[in-house]
This record gives sequence, C-alpha cells and structure tokens, in this order.
Amino acid sequence: MTEITQTDLLSLYPEELAELVVSLGEPKFRAGQIFPALHKGLVPREMTNISKSTAEKLEAAMPTRMPAIEQKLVSQVDGTVKYLFRLHDGECIESVLMRYNHGNTVCVSTQVGCRMGCAFCASTIGGKIRDLSAGEILAQVILASADTGERVSNIVLMGIGEPMDNYENVLRFLRLVNDERGICIGYRHISLSTCGHVDGIRRLMKENLPITLSISLHAASDEARDKIMPINRRWNVSELLAACLDWWHATGRRISFEYTLIDGHNSSPADAAFLAGVLNSALRGKPSRGEKFPIHVNLIPVNPVKETGLMPPNAEKIEAFRAALEKKGIRATVRRKLGPDINASCGQLRRQHKEEKSKN
Ligand code: SAH
Repeated sequence: MTEITQTDLLSLYPEELAELVVSLGEPKFRAGQIFPALHKGLVPREMTNISKSTAEKLEAAMPTRMPAIEQKLVSQVDGTVKYLFRLHDGECIESVLMRYNHGNTVCVSTQVGCRMGCAFCASTIGGKIRDLSAGEILAQVILASADTGERVSNIVLMGIGEPMDNYENVLRFLRLVNDERGICIGYRHISLSTCGHVDGIRRLMKENLPITLSISLHAASDEARDKIMPINRRWNVSELLAACLDWWHATGRRISFEYTLIDGHNSSPADAAFLAGVLNSALRGKPSRGEKFPIHVNLIPVNPVKETGLMPPNAEKIEAFRAALEKKGIRATVRRKLGPDINASCGQLRRQHKEEKSKN
C-alpha cells in the first residue's frame, strides 16, 4: 500500500480513496460511490448511497474540510459572483464565478496569501500564510457550482496565490477536476496563470496536460519588470520567454500574456513598441511547428489597490497602447472588467475582511 500524504478526503485520487476504504474494512467498490458524491459537495454523512456506519468510519479516518461561505457578493451589472470562503483553520480565500456566453468560469485561489511580492497586487501584501490542499482548491469549484446551481465549464487559476509555488497540490487539483468520475472539466478549458516561475513552467510542460498557460508579464524590460515583479530577479524576461517557446514546442498549446497597464510605469507607446519587439524577437525569430507562435496579449488596466497607489492610464492611453501592439503584429485585447460594483479583482475582499476582524 502506498502511503497517503493528503489530509482531507477531497484531495484523494480515486485509487487512494479505494485504499482508504479497504483499510477501513469496506469493499473497494464503495470508493466508486463515494468519490462522485464527494465531488458533488456532499460529506459522508450526507451520502444516501452508503450506510451510516461506513460514513462514520470514513469521517473518523479523514475529514472532508469543506470550506464555508463567509461572504458572497453578486454583481448587479453582469451577475459575477464573488465568494469569500472560510477554511477549516479560519483563514479566508476568494473565488469568483464569471458568466460568459460560452459558460461559467470559476477563478480559484491556490494559496492563502502569496509570497511573490508583485507591486500592484493585493494578495501579496500580508505574505503567504499557507498552501491550499488540492481538495481546498477543488472545493471552490464545487461550492460555486452548488451555490448557483449552475454548471462550471471553465476554470482559471488566477485567484490568490502563485500556482507554481504550490506545484504538487495544484497538479493534483488539475487531475482531480479533470477526472471523469467527478467534475470532469477538460484540460483545454483550464488556464493556469503564473508570474513567471520558470522551473514550474518547465516541470508542468512535461506532465502532458493540454491546459492553457497564462503568463503575467506586465513589463518587457528587466529594468521595469525587476521593479514591479521580484520574481524577475530570479528568472529574467529572456529566460521566461525561452521557457514559453519551449512550452509551445512541447505542447502545441497557445500561451496568453497578461499585461497590467499601470500609469507612468509600463504603458507609454514606447513601452508598447518595446514589448512588441521583445515578444517578436524571442518567440517569432525562427518559425517552427510550421506556423508562427500565436502571440496574444491581454491588456488589463490595473485595479487600484489602496495600499499601492498605482493607477490605470486613461482610456485614450490604453487604446494607443493596444494600437501600437497591433501595428507590430501583436494581437491584443483590453480585458472587459467583470463585476465592477463588487471589487471582483482578487485579494481585496480577503484583506478587507482581515482588517475588519482585527478591529473587533
Ligand atoms: N500568481 C499568478 C496568478 C494569480 S494573479 C500570477 O501572477 O499570474 C492573477 C492575475 O491578476 C495576474 O496576471 C496578476 O498579475 C493580476 N493582478 C494582480 N493584481 C492586480 C491588480 N491590482 N490589477 C490588475 N491585475 C492584477
């Protein structure tokens, strides 16, 4: 028997759950009844397909640790739902359900806090408290779906935390959420966003999961990127883009680049021309796979976070930036802001909640 390293039922692979069930003196097939029920959001005592004594044994062996909804905000503008979930140890994380024409997307957190230190980001202000288990990441999808009564068709790992800094649990989550006995979301409907953790990118590319990689670039020169994203001092822009090119060669999956526009830092027409030059020369120097690297840049006007004082450029400057990229052959779209009335960008609700709690 392999050793089970997880501490909550939702984190277990089906084989591990089967081992646990057998070790409790139950027939192995019970695991096939329990796994889908867990992934619908039930705890053992709520499952009608197992006996009370099986449920009790299972709960005594390992807790489910389903988070609770601490707070929920629904946008009156576009129906975006933002959740503040309370974990078993009292820590809180955020998740967002966004409604698009092609279905619902849930944005999940991967850590409590973050230690990456990006200058514009609210999630990193208090540092990292701890990693989330695979089950705690999965529970966000399950709860958003159960609460709205709607199917979730896409997932983005763009909430609080750096997914590559919690690699093992994130990988486990990806496999669990893809499992056909559970929620069964195709890898092609999952995007993972990283601040540029090159070791993580190179490791993930070998796992052969056709997910979409999203790179938080935000600046194209090392000088500018060093200032706003400390990870750039560990892996610089050229190392990052070399890893992106290898990712594309290895997986054939496109990469999307996120670029947060911050007034006075990275958003002049000269910054746009420089960005286009860097991307074109790093990624399109030698066409391979019989095609050019499909570069797409998402432009995100920075969401003002009160602690940082950073502001977005005005609409005219944003459009000029986008047009300058297009002129150099780089497709760019300005990200539509969802849930403008509920502060839907991540990290801010958790901070607000912490501040209010510490006042009481
Ligand atoms: N750590 C991962 C994923 C979480 S952040 C990453 O860095 O990619 C998700 C995205 O939101 C990233 O692109 C991040 O740079 C961006 N972001 C963080 N704070 C923001 C803010 N105040 N305004 C706009 N985008 C922000």
